[in-house]
Amino acid sequence: MTGSDSVLSIKGVGPEVAKKLRILGITTISELLLHYPRRYEDYSNVSPIQNIKPGQVTIKAVIKQIKGRYVRRGMHITEAVASDDTSSVRVIWFNQPYRENAMRPGQEYFISGELGLSHQRMSITNPAVELVSDFPVSTARIVPVYRETKGLKSAQIRKYIKACSRLINGQAETLPSWILASHALMSRSDAMFSMHFPESLPSLEMAKKRLGFEEVFELSLAALLNKYELLQEESVVIPFDVKIAQDFVKHLPFTLTDAQKQVIWQIYNDLAKSQPMNRLVEGDVGSGKTVVAAMSAVMAMQQGFQVAYMAPTALLARQHADTLKKLLTPLDFDSKVGELRGSMKTPEKKIVYDKLENGELGLIVGTHAVIQDKVRMKRLGLVIIDEQHRFGVEQRKRLQAKAGIMPHVLTMTATPIPRTLALTLYGELDISVINTKPAGRLLIKTELVSPNSKQQMYDKVDKELEAGRQMFVVCPLITDEDPSKRSVEAVHTELSRKYFKNRHVGLLHGKLSSAEKDQIMADFIEKKYDILVSTTVIEVGVDVPNATVMIIEDAERFGLAQLHQLRGRVGRSEHQGYCYLILSDSKPASRRLRALEQSHDGFKLAELDLELRGPGAIYGTMQHGELDLRVAKLTDVKLISQARSAAQQFIDNKENLIQYNHLYNKVQKLRAVTNVS
Ligand code: ADP
Ligand code: MG
Repeated sequence: MTGSDSVLSIKGVGPEVAKKLRILGITTISELLLHYPRRYEDYSNVSPIQNIKPGQVTIKAVIKQIKGRYVRRGMHITEAVASDDTSSVRVIWFNQPYRENAMRPGQEYFISGELGLSHQRMSITNPAVELVSDFPVSTARIVPVYRETKGLKSAQIRKYIKACSRLINGQAETLPSWILASHALMSRSDAMFSMHFPESLPSLEMAKKRLGFEEVFELSLAALLNKYELLQEESVVIPFDVKIAQDFVKHLPFTLTDAQKQVIWQIYNDLAKSQPMNRLVEGDVGSGKTVVAAMSAVMAMQQGFQVAYMAPTALLARQHADTLKKLLTPLDFDSKVGELRGSMKTPEKKIVYDKLENGELGLIVGTHAVIQDKVRMKRLGLVIIDEQHRFGVEQRKRLQAKAGIMPHVLTMTATPIPRTLALTLYGELDISVINTKPAGRLLIKTELVSPNSKQQMYDKVDKELEAGRQMFVVCPLITDEDPSKRSVEAVHTELSRKYFKNRHVGLLHGKLSSAEKDQIMADFIEKKYDILVSTTVIEVGVDVPNATVMIIEDAERFGLAQLHQLRGRVGRSEHQGYCYLILSDSKPASRRLRALEQSHDGFKLAELDLELRGPGAIYGTMQHGELDLRVAKLTDVKLISQARSAAQQFIDNKENLIQYNHLYNKVQKLRAVTNVS
């Protein structure tokens, strides 16, 4: 048996089990050994029965009087008495009729489970039971709990891992020994063994530290190598031209915030270098990223370079094109702005392609249509990507390949990425943060609403509509396929037939064609609707200054960052904005949602989400599944900074990566994923 063997070579694993394991992403023994527990239950303390207290307990006892019976509605109960030298306790299992015959009277067992009141009597309910003479896997130890799938329980997974555990010893070391020594890390095989068979909680923590360190080290190394590779590349030089910058600023209807100025300055510095810029601008909704993008674009355009501006949706591309045209009009660049959308007719596109190829157009705004193979640019010098996490890595690579020259890349996001997450995932990017908003903005009044106070809420918001304002209503679903969630269709019907009979209610969702969506949005902007019921397609960027109310149905179903983003759609003018978060039921609101009432800082909210829901929730929206952190906690700032500096040291030492077989393969894979240049 070796690690690359199929799980079928494990004793007890047949084709049926193998199929279930495959659902968990496990086909080989190595993959099984890398299936680390999600959590642990500490059953390591074996207590005399007379000492046990309610909670998780383990006893070493003999089973007596075991008997099963069916009670009402087909429910089955197996009841037994477990005794040791000190006392006896009742043990019950629900709906596990096989228990009665599985136990041999007179034999000694470890019994691990929850002690508590059941039908007014102290009992251990649904415990795991293993013969003392066997090597226990589910009792009398710190019991690992694995990710399960239907028909494959943690207890089985424990047995399979036990059956091939001796292979863990053969696992090669993956980190250079000087790193292990300087950070007091245990060996890889010891750590892996501890993950599945922890001896104590402290040793488990050591194991997690070791493996988490490795993960962050690998990610950081991949990011740094990408970064240095990019620095070897030569890009176009776009020197700073003070006149064009001053001209642009002179015509703005407002003064730039200090944060905007600082970020623009960083970008101008990058553009003037012969190394390609690879910068991420993070700025909360409404912080004014578009102006920053426009100022970057004019610098390139002024010097004869073309700029590609990509937006995540057609809707947004439309709006950005208009905004950019307006911003560029005083410089007479507006005629150089073109648009590309998937929904455009072929002859229309052809004209744009030609103008890009002969250099007539200096700025092309669109969705990923901008990076299709047919698009040939004469002199692409700068790529600006709005909401970069919506674009796949492959798409980015194609852009670069096609440009012939290496363009500068500026990405912008309103997703507040907590610092630790940004450092780990985007280590190769230079990050700029626009951390203040233009002065004089009103905070959006945010309120949590229980579903039975809706009428009062509607009465309140109707005053806004009466005053000529508009409102968004966001729902998690399009149709009523899941009765437990609110859908745009159901809510649209409810609002137009019941609560707002005399108002115009529009409907918008992602299943409509781009042309339909554009039309509905345009109609909303022209006030043909008072209310727009929508899915989260309106999440990014769409600007409707007259909309002052945002109602979000089933608010629990969204992440904090997403809710904050949605809230940012209103209050984009001098009018006070309102956000109502409707709870799914009348239970008290979670701490998560209550945070939105108090905080208007997207970064703080994202940090909190990271803490309360873990990186998975944030990954989910960022499509970074492949980055696959199994152990490391992104909230562990100390570990991350140590692992990052170890990666830097690895490079500074001029270590030869190819020497480290495993590390080399892993890092190559990660480099492909994180390669955003
Ligand atoms: P986001 O960062 O969410 O993309 P936008 O670029 O759309 O924000 O800017 C939001 C609004 O703020 C726009 O109407 C824009 O004109 C305005 N704005 C941007 N910068 C400033 C500023 N320095 N002072 C006042 N208003 C500004
Ligand atoms: Mg924007």
